[in-house]
Formats: sequence, structure tokens, C-alpha cells
Amino acid sequence: MSKKTNSGTGFNTKLIHSDYVAPSGFEAFPAAIHHASTVLFKDVAAMRARNWQDKTAYTYGLHGTPTSFTLEARLAEIEQGEHCLLAPSGLAAITLVDLALLQSGDDVLLPDNVYNPSRELGSWLAHSFGISVRYYDPLIGAGVAELIQSNTKLIWTEAPGSVSMEVPDIPAICAAAHAKGVLVALDNTWSAGLAFAAFEHGVDIVMQALTKYQSGGSDVLMGALITRDKTLHARLQATHMRLGFGIGMDDAYLVLRNLSTLKLRFDAHDAGARKLAFWLRSRPEISRVLHPALPDCPGHDVWMRDFKGAGGLFSVLFDVAYNEVQTDCFVDNLKLFKIGFSWGGAHSLCVPYRIQQMRNSWQQPGILVRFNVGLEDADDLIADVEQALSVMKQS
Ligand SMILES: *Cc1c(COP(=O)(O)O)cnc(C)c1O
Repeated sequence: MSKKTNSGTGFNTKLIHSDYVAPSGFEAFPAAIHHASTVLFKDVAAMRARNWQDKTAYTYGLHGTPTSFTLEARLAEIEQGEHCLLAPSGLAAITLVDLALLQSGDDVLLPDNVYNPSRELGSWLAHSFGISVRYYDPLIGAGVAELIQSNTKLIWTEAPGSVSMEVPDIPAICAAAHAKGVLVALDNTWSAGLAFAAFEHGVDIVMQALTKYQSGGSDVLMGALITRDKTLHARLQATHMRLGFGIGMDDAYLVLRNLSTLKLRFDAHDAGARKLAFWLRSRPEISRVLHPALPDCPGHDVWMRDFKGAGGLFSVLFDVAYNEVQTDCFVDNLKLFKIGFSWGGAHSLCVPYRIQQMRNSWQQPGILVRFNVGLEDADDLIADVEQALSVMKQS
């Protein structure tokens, strides 16, 4: 508490300064929402003694309040990490990693199926900041060793790629990277930190788009970076401070509020998605179901070995007999599946991708359509897809 007390007599002063302090000892399940830009110090000495990096105390709203500290700690627990930083979006968290770890002359390796805005960021880093950005086959595994140069500082991974769904061999990539002193960052959003134990498999930095499953409400944008290594965390934290990445405490509260149901929701998404994916496999209009739990999906064996679940996101390739006008007609005629980006909320979504324009090396024929299976009854979702396929065939 501030040492200053209400000494004024005018109404404006009274309205701004008050001696009332709520009784301590309040206990309840919800995390308290602490809003603050200014954090108060009891005296100048306390202010001077405060270290902004030290999360046992508070310095300024940008560095956190009890609400954001609680969310950070809980996310670190889920991911089995030690440290966590929050960013205003998943993409902001990705950007933070790149800006913290790369400088002019350095080299970074990105999987060719990387989250597309991360590729955009890569182009910007290459064109404007003199950083070498190269792409690798997500199924490369131990072969990534041959791509590592003396200036390579960072390898990004995504497990699986969120559109084309290849599951990379993370332990093999990490072993190759660490043998040459290179750090590995993983976009672990697909598994929500529940279905893939990133640190156990060798990853150095875990990124989560909390926008997806952790929020679960399609109403929050936020990202997180989780680490085990203190020095690495300190590097990220310094950049976090320099970039001024703050988050809203109401948003942090919404994520905290939904964390308790994260596993139940994830498992329900998983069950619904697998049911729809198995059903789609039997459909003549679909040539390939790209769901990591199905053998058709590249990296399925790795998924079997390393993962404990799958969540609600997967893609299909339509048979080459169907052109884009027809597959667009399919998507337009879905009723329960809405058209929109993002995923992890209760509502099912469907998006067609022009993947040839996103990937250097995409060879496969057929239009790619991605499903995010929400929390509706799976049989209703299957019926919806079935009727939209019929409309497509009549068009
Ligand atoms: C959504 C998403 C992001 C970015 O999250 P935002 O909060 O939308 O910026 C990053 N990676 C993956 C795989 C995503 O799906």
C-alpha cells in the first residue's frame, strides 16, 4: 500500500484518495483481476530496490500483476516448464522469440509448413534485418543436421503443421540442433500443451497461441512462451520488456477461468474430430484425410510414438475430380461449420486453403480444406458435412 493517506478536504481529492482498505483474508476460487499501469511503492528506497525481472514482486503494469503472474505460473505447470511470458497474441510471441534470438547475419530454419504469418515474419526479417531464413521439409527429422550452418541460431518446429498436418520428429530435430548448439522452438498450439510433452522431447522454447484451446471462447487473443532454462528465459524477458508487450488482465482472467476445463474440452474436440475424420475416410469425394491419428497423415508413426491426443484440428484433400469452385460450394453449404480462421473454440469451423501458394514444395493434388471440430454432437457435424457434399455434387 501507498504510504500517502487522504489528507485533502476537496471532493476531487476525496474521490481520488481514500483510506479504505478492504479486509484481507478473502478466499475464493476465481483468480482476482488486478488492473494496473502504475504499481505503488511504499517509499523511494523500496522503489529503487525493486528489480523488474524478479517475479516475487511488482514494478509496473507491463511487467505483470498477480493476475498475469498466476496465468504464467499455471501455463508453465501445464507445459512442465519453469518460466512463462505472455504476449498480446500467438504471433507476437513468435515475433518475440525471433527478435530475442536472432540478429543480422544469423540464420534461422523454419519448417516449410510453418504457420503462415510466421513465414511472413521470416520474409521481413530476411529483407529488412539481414537475417538468413531457410525452409526445411517438416519430415526431415535427423536430416536437419545437414542444414545447420555455423551462423544457425534457431530452428522453429510446429507439431503438427496447422494446415497440412505433417508430424515432425521433434526428438530427432532437437538432438541434431543441440549437437551443434542450436536452440529449438516449438509452436505447440495444436496439442495445447496436453498431448505433447515438449520439454521431455528436447524442445528449448514452447510457444502457445492461448487464443485457441486455453481461451476456448473465441474471444481472446494471447500468446505464451514457456522455457525451462533461466538464462534463455532472461533473454526472452529482456526483449519482452523492450518491445513493451503487455496483455489485458480481463483477457488473462478469461484464460484462467477456462483453464480448469482445458483437458475435458480438448478430449471432447479430439473425440469429435476423430469420429468425423474416420467417417470422411470412407467418402469417395475425399482422397486423403490428414489427421495425425490416421495412417494417411505424414508423420503418423511419430504421432503414435510421441503424442497422447489430437484435439479438433485436421484437414482433408478432395479428390482431383473436384475443382475449387466445387469445394468452395461445399464449404459455403455447411451449416454448423462456420467459415473463419482460428480454432479451439466451441464452434466448428471450416476453411479452404490455397496451399500451393503457401508452400515452396507442395506437390499433392486435390484441394485442401481444414476442419476445426468444435464441441457440437459429432453425429450432427457428420450429417452437416454429408449434406454439403451432396449439394456440392449436384452443383
Ligand atoms: C493461431 C495460431 C498462431 C497465432 O496465434 P494468434 O493469437 O492468432 O496470433 C500461431 N500458431 C498456430 C499454429 C496457430 O494456429
